[in-house]
Amino acid sequence: MPLNPSWVTSANSADTDFPLNNLPYGVFSTDTLDARCGVAIGDMILDMYAAEEQGVIDLTDEPLFDVPFWNELMEQGPAVWTALRNRLTDLLADGSKDRALVEPLLVPMEDATVHMPLVVSEFTDFYAGRHHATNVGTMFRGPENALPPNWLHIPIGYNGRASSVVVSGTDIRRPWGQLKSPDHDMPAFLPSRRFDLELEMGAIVGMASDGPISVDEADAAIFGYVLLNDWSARDIQAWEYQPLGPFQAKATATSISPWIVTKAALEPFRTPTPEREFEHLDHLKDTGPMLYDIDLSVTLAPDGKDATTIAETNYREMYYSAAQQLAHHSTSGCPMNVGDLLGSGTISGPTKPERGSLLELSWGGKEPLTLDTGDTRTFLEDGDTLTLAGHAKGDGYRIGFGTCTGTMLPALEDPYKR
Ligand code: CA
Repeated sequence: MPLNPSWVTSANSADTDFPLNNLPYGVFSTDTLDARCGVAIGDMILDMYAAEEQGVIDLTDEPLFDVPFWNELMEQGPAVWTALRNRLTDLLADGSKDRALVEPLLVPMEDATVHMPLVVSEFTDFYAGRHHATNVGTMFRGPENALPPNWLHIPIGYNGRASSVVVSGTDIRRPWGQLKSPDHDMPAFLPSRRFDLELEMGAIVGMASDGPISVDEADAAIFGYVLLNDWSARDIQAWEYQPLGPFQAKATATSISPWIVTKAALEPFRTPTPEREFEHLDHLKDTGPMLYDIDLSVTLAPDGKDATTIAETNYREMYYSAAQQLAHHSTSGCPMNVGDLLGSGTISGPTKPERGSLLELSWGGKEPLTLDTGDTRTFLEDGDTLTLAGHAKGDGYRIGFGTCTGTMLPALEDPYKR
């Protein structure tokens, strides 16, 4: 599919993240506008609150955009999702008869502050990238036992916290926690010294379910995708994770990019999961291409200095699709809700520059990275700004996610000091 031209000329550039083919959904405010839903188009945002109030968008009897989150639209289900996308495409297409109505509803993106695009109902994070799991397993258990015995049969995950999911641009405070260095007999309560990023994609559930659903039903229930950085305190994690998995190591923050890229926009970029070592049980069998060809990158900028690209990989490196993860999540009868967020797990490719965490890039801290600025890193330092970016590459256009960024703040004074 080629570029779909828009009368918003900035949307026709080959390197904008937001051509008419994309139409991602976010929430923004300006000095004069309260937080509200918006749609990114080129370097502008269409004000959905105003569009609905003025009758330019009129899909349902009850208003959808009188609230600053996209859950109300998601609740309407796929027929309304499609109707909205079609209407937006008509309004913004080159030659649209409605241009005069829509033009006053556009806000320059540079004047806007972004907010969380949805109310996250619950957050589950998976461990479903084979290269990542192999790298981490090799570090901790040796190459023979790198993948746990269940890994090739089920997407492993844990239930995280919706309360710590934040939008891109939110500063990240270095946490304190209980750690135990292998060199010491007893644990200590200290600021994390091995604070890390995890490059992931987040899938947003748009249709509720109450009982087991198939992979196809799960794929249909996914509304869209965001970039996701699952900030991780490796030293807290190493001490706490057995036998119930990560807890406080993952509870400081998880950042997401501000624009929900819809499954509809990503449709031309579907790609199959990798070759299977074991046939999956029926409830997890692949039924079609359910990953996406999305180029991903991570940059690190030390305080006040230029950014260095530290990792480049692609979402197609995942072993399990979000649809398989969602189907697996439902097998127990676990109710899934509109607004649930599923983290893919860290995405790493087969080679060193494709590793999606500093744990892997510095091989457990043993091989420091040298940045373009000459600085070296094993884990994150105070003042570092991490930026994830991603896009699917079309013919003369791209479906971009914008960026997912966060800056490390120093730990507070000892919170328990008497
Ligand atoms: Ca993770």
